[in-house]
Order: sequence, then structure tokens, then C-alpha cells
Amino acid sequence: MKRPILIHPDPRLKKVCEPVPDLSDDLRRLADDMLETMYDAPGIGLAAPQVGVTRRLIVLDCVKDEGEEPRPLVMFNPEVVASSDETNVYEEGCLSIPDQYADVTRPKIVDVRWIDRDGNAQAETFDGLWATCVQHEIDHLNGKLFIDYLGAVRRQMITRRMQKLKREQARA
Ligand SMILES: [Zn+2]
Repeated sequence: MKRPILIHPDPRLKKVCEPVPDLSDDLRRLADDMLETMYDAPGIGLAAPQVGVTRRLIVLDCVKDEGEEPRPLVMFNPEVVASSDETNVYEEGCLSIPDQYADVTRPKIVDVRWIDRDGNAQAETFDGLWATCVQHEIDHLNGKLFIDYLGAVRRQMITRRMQKLKREQARA
């Protein structure tokens, strides 16, 4: 089932999310709903607070080529345990900040640990777009958005645009 995506500014997008202590069918259903919502948007990553659930859960799939197999990843309690000194710049966007994009610099390579959909501990090294995406999604769990990396003027400009968008949506 698709879930509505919260649009910035929203207090739920600024919260530090709670760890998931035990997997439940409800949480697995939430993860499946988040994947469906992400693919439908379409996007390459989604964090639970973006659908109003302040739990440490993200989903992502950065496979972009048409011919390539999709690779949906569900991560409970994801954690970056090591990151490279080498950095990468990507033009980032966010489903909670529609149609706004900006360059963000992040570590190029990160080691990530998480609990998968079946409750198993996983660890993997991510590079390139995957590394950027997983860091962007984990930031959401700490109440941080990609616009928080920008200067105040740019951030406020984007926030005002989103406030206007929300007013228009509320009227529609
Ligand atoms: Zn985002």
C-alpha cells in the first residue's frame, strides 16, 4: 500500500528516530509499503520519517539502468561504521522536497551495517550513488535533510518554496 510522503517543513522530518528493537509483521509491512511508495514516486531511497513513522528504517534501490535487475534494500537500524576521506559531489534531491536539487559533498565510500527484512545482520561497502543515497537516508533518521548542507540563504529559499507548495496543496 502506498503511503503519503510528508513535505518539508514538517516537525516529523526534524526528529531523531527511535531504533527498532524487534522486527514485527507491522514493521515488515511498513518496509514493503515504503518500497512501493519509493518506486511509485519514483525515487531511489525513502526513510520512515518521510511517511510519518519516526523509526530507524530506510529503503533504497539505486539501480537505474532499464535492463538491470532491481535491488531493493530494506535496512533497519542502519549505521555508517566507516567512511572514506575521499569525497564525491552529487546533485541531490528528496521526495520530501520535490523538484529542488543541489550539489552535496559526502564521503565517496561508506561501510554500513544494518538488520535486513529477515532480521539478519548485514554489512556492505557502498560506493558512488549508493553511498550518497544511503548517507542521505540515514541523515533523515537523525532529522537532517540535504538542504541542511547548503548555505542559509539557499536553504530558506527552498523552504519558502515548499511552504508555498503546501499552501497550494491544502487549497486544492
Ligand atoms: Zn530525502
